[in-house]
Amino acid sequence: MKLPRKVKRYCPTCKKHEEHRIVRVKGRSKSALGRIERRRKERIKKGYGSTPYPQPQKSHRHNVKSTKKLDLRYECASCKKQHASKQGIRIKKLELT
Ligand SMILES: [Zn+2]
Repeated sequence: MKLPRKVKRYCPTCKKHEEHRIVRVKGRSKSALGRIERRRKERIKKGYGSTPYPQPQKSHRHNVKSTKKLDLRYECASCKKQHASKQGIRIKKLELT
């Protein structure tokens, strides 16, 4: 998938639309985690922490998804702050043009 290197987005710090640079972050962020997975982790955090949760058994749906969600950040050109996009996108290959 091809994405433009610079996009105009709303910057919450500057409170107006500014030019943003797309930054790729390694590792998964909260936004890149799935909705269900994130909820499960929050549920586990609420417990008393004596026993870890049971390891999920490998089902037939294991490794069904061939791509991973990318964690893209947008860096504001004027204040240099980074903002994460709300949803991760599933892309096999990212090209910044
Ligand atoms: Zn800004």
